Amino acid sequence: MSDEPKIPKGDSTRVVSAGRRKEWTQGIVNTPVWRASTILYDTVADLRTAGGRDTHHRLFYGRKGTPTQWSLADALTELEPGAEGTFLYPSGVAAIAAALLSVLAPGDDLLLPDSAYDPTRSMATGLLQRMGIATRFYDPLIGAGIADLIADNTRAILMESPGSLTFDVQDVPAIVAAAKARGVVTLLDNTWATPLFFPAIAHGIDLSILACTKYVVGHSDVMLGSVTAAPGHFAKLRDTSFQLGQVASPDDCWLGSRGLRTMAIRLKQHESSALQIAHWLAGQPEVAIVLHPALATCPGHDHFVRDFKGSSGLFSFVLNGGGEAARAALIDGLEHFGIGYSWGGFESLALPVDPQRYRSVTRRADAGPIVRLQIGLEDPADLIADLAAALARFAALR
Ligand SMILES: *Cc1c(COP(=O)(O)O)cnc(C)c1O
Repeated sequence: MSDEPKIPKGDSTRVVSAGRRKEWTQGIVNTPVWRASTILYDTVADLRTAGGRDTHHRLFYGRKGTPTQWSLADALTELEPGAEGTFLYPSGVAAIAAALLSVLAPGDDLLLPDSAYDPTRSMATGLLQRMGIATRFYDPLIGAGIADLIADNTRAILMESPGSLTFDVQDVPAIVAAAKARGVVTLLDNTWATPLFFPAIAHGIDLSILACTKYVVGHSDVMLGSVTAAPGHFAKLRDTSFQLGQVASPDDCWLGSRGLRTMAIRLKQHESSALQIAHWLAGQPEVAIVLHPALATCPGHDHFVRDFKGSSGLFSFVLNGGGEAARAALIDGLEHFGIGYSWGGFESLALPVDPQRYRSVTRRADAGPIVRLQIGLEDPADLIADLAAALARFAALR
């Protein structure tokens, strides 16, 4: 709301106030939806001034944004202490693509964790490979050992912590240190933790990526992505994104801003309910292991304890034996969990996941099939009762 705060701001205060500049809100609490393609000028001279090199935060043409997009981008920058700027995208995957393309060129080498989000893997082995960019996958728990993998043409290391499906928590500080020593750019998919639980730029990350579709939007009704850049990385990101023609719609950004205002309090509830359910699951005989970063059974748990300020609402559990039919019976009868992709909304979801299908350099030896849960904002006792019945259905078919 004010550009120069005199009183310190905590995370909850920042998600409420960030990005609400008077010139954008016009005094309305939420920055309104400013829709535009054409901007009209009074004179040719005005038109020429507006089209100058630095069109940042100046109305010029709809593709360059309006106050609705700038407001959300600014808010996300403010949530990452030390960041220079943020660019918004029509999806999380679009954000990952722009971030990688702003760094990589033909002949470059990219390091990706074996636990990366499947569409990120496909981008690397598809689009990037066609462009002459090679990708090597690494064990997400490699830590400082990443130094041995850095080659002369390694341009970027992407991290995703915790990783998709299996929630391996990476040693981000060790990987960042190894990358910095060799002048390699670091990118982090920070969707699970958000800047509230892991301020990525403050941890030395160069490009911090969010699928805003998840916790920023928070209501399962908008696709949106963001990349927040450390100083020295924003101009390249913005130029690349403009050259790709990227623009997130003002209506979607407005919903993103609206979601952001409650993100801190929603995350607290997701955290508390998910922890309650994860601990309960860990005590059930049908469950072999709970893959939740805050539980000691999760790979990389020590890194979680050291680096994170909290945990969110998404985790997996491995069943004790059983096959596809028993897992399907567990999920199919759930009353409070929907069966569907994505996560981060107010509603709980359950998904059968098979992480080994998306791994190439690490092998899992799981005791049974795996289920991923997104814990929503329902009463945790209801969710536990639902899961207790689900485990009974599983046990009957195991
Ligand atoms: C969902 C997700 C994405 C992609 O976001 P979309 O908005 O669905 O494109 C990227 N990374 C992670 C970890 C995700 O879970």
